[in-house]
Amino acid sequence: MKYDPRFRRTKIVATVGPASSDEDVIQAMIEAGVAVMRINSSHGTPEFRGAVMDRIRNVRDRLRQSVAILVDLQGPRIRVGALAESRQLVEDGEVSFAPEDEATGDDIPTTYGQLAEDVTVGTRILLDDGLLEVTVTAVHGAKITCRVVHGGELKSHKGMNLPDIRVSAPSVTEKDRDDIALAVEHGADFVGLSFVRRHQDVESLRGLLPAGMRIVSKIEKAAALEDLTSIVDTTDAIMVARGDLGVELPFEEVPVAQKRVISLANQFGRPVITATQMLESMIEKPRPTRAEASDVANAVLDGTDAVMLSAETAVGAYPVEAVQAMARIVERTESAHMIAEIPERQRLNRRFADEGPETADAIAAATCAAAEMLRVPLIVCFTHSGFTARKLAACRPSVPIIGLTTESSTFHRLALTWGVHAALEESQPTYDRMLALARDYLTSRDYVQEGDRVVVTAGVPFDTPGTTNLLKVEVV
Ligand code: ATP
Ligand code: MG
Ligand code: MG
Repeated sequence: MKYDPRFRRTKIVATVGPASSDEDVIQAMIEAGVAVMRINSSHGTPEFRGAVMDRIRNVRDRLRQSVAILVDLQGPRIRVGALAESRQLVEDGEVSFAPEDEATGDDIPTTYGQLAEDVTVGTRILLDDGLLEVTVTAVHGAKITCRVVHGGELKSHKGMNLPDIRVSAPSVTEKDRDDIALAVEHGADFVGLSFVRRHQDVESLRGLLPAGMRIVSKIEKAAALEDLTSIVDTTDAIMVARGDLGVELPFEEVPVAQKRVISLANQFGRPVITATQMLESMIEKPRPTRAEASDVANAVLDGTDAVMLSAETAVGAYPVEAVQAMARIVERTESAHMIAEIPERQRLNRRFADEGPETADAIAAATCAAAEMLRVPLIVCFTHSGFTARKLAACRPSVPIIGLTTESSTFHRLALTWGVHAALEESQPTYDRMLALARDYLTSRDYVQEGDRVVVTAGVPFDTPGTTNLLKVEVV
C-alpha cells in the first residue's frame, strides 16, 4: 500500500520558547507537523507560559486540529541562578557556589539551598547538560569551593547534575505544585515528571492531578532504569530524556538505554517520546547534519511514538525549518521501512500487566489482523476516552487508525499516540448514526473511495470507558 504523509505515524513534539511563542510561529509549526507542544516550566515566567498555552489553544481551535499541550515540570532539578553576565570557567581554576540568596562577589548562585549539605569533598558537579565539570574541594557553611575539570562558558539558569549523590529534594517540589496549577488552569493535556526515580514518584504525582490529566515520566536517572518495568506500567507515557540521562550516566549508555526504554514502552503499549539534541545543529543552521538525520530515523525504527525538538524550536534560529526537517526524515523513513518491518517485530513482543491480556487487547489484535488480511486502507475506531485507540496503536497496524471521538480532551490527547489520526465529531445516539458520520468524514477528505472496505472497532455502549468489544467490516 502506498504511504500517505497525511498519516505520518510517528508524532513530532516541539518545545515552545522565546523563538516560537508568537501565534504565527505556533501556527506554522503545527502546519509543518507538530502534534504536541511542550512548555518547559524551568524557563520563562508563569505569565509567559500561561500566555503560550492560551495561544496554542487558540490556534488548535482555529485549525480544528488535534494538538496536545505538554507541560514539563522542573522536578528536583538543580540549576545555576541568574548571572549578571555569562562566566568563563577555566580548567584547573577555582569557582565557588552559594545558594541564590547568599551568593556574594564571584559566587555562582544555585537554586538548591542544601547543596553544601549534600556534597562532600570529591563530589562531581556537571553543568549545562554535562558540557562543563567541576569537583568539590571544600565545603564552608552554605558555600562550596570547586576545581574546574572541564571549562567553558557558563550561562544563567543552566542545569547542574550531581550523578554521584542522592539529592534530598522531593520528587514534586513546591514550584512544581504551582506549575501544575498553572497547567490545569490553562488546559494542558499532559504533565512531564522530571527525574523520576521510582514508580512511587509517578503515583504521588497522580494524586496531585485532576482526573484526565496524563503523566509523561521522564527517564533521566540511573535509578529509573532500575525500576523501569514498574514505572512504565504505572505511567501514561514515557520520555527518553537523553540530555540529563547522558549526564547522570556515561554517554555511551544512552543508545542502549534508549532502545531498552522504547522496547519496554512498546511492550506495555505506552506512548514513548525520544528527546534531546535530535537536530541540535539546527539551533544555528538551516539544515541538520547527516548524523542527526540518522538519529531521528533510527528512533523511528526503534519504535518510538514521537520524536522531540528542544532548544531547536525554543531558542533556535530556525524553529519552523527544524519541524519541517524532522517531518521529512520521519516520512521518508516510514515510507521505506515501517509498513513492512516495524509492526511485525513489535507485535511479536507485546506484553501485558500481571493480569494478562484483556478483551480489548484481543479485539485490537484481531482488528489489525483483519485490516491487513483484507488490505483495507484504514481502521476506524470510535473512542471515548482514547482507550480503544491506544490499544490499537499498541498493535502497530500497518494502516492508519482514524480515532473518531466526541470528546475534545480525547481528541487532543490522542495527538501523542503513534499511528492515530484523531477526528472530533458530534455525539450520535447509535452505532449506525456514528458510522454514517464516519463515512462522511472519510469520503469528504478523500481518505477512502466509495466501495472500499474499512475495519471498524469500538467499545459499545459508547459512554463506558475501557470497553473495546466490537469489530466489524463495513463497506463505505
Ligand atoms: P530539561 O531538562 O527539562 O530538558 P533544559 O534546560 O534542557 O531542561 P529544554 O527544554 O531541553 O531545557 O530546552 C533547551 C534549552 O532551550 C534550555 O537550556 C534553555 O536555554 C532554552 N529554553 C527552553 N525553553 C525556554 C524558555 N521558555 N525561555 C528561555 N529559554 C528556553
Ligand atoms: Mg533538555
Ligand atoms: Mg531533563
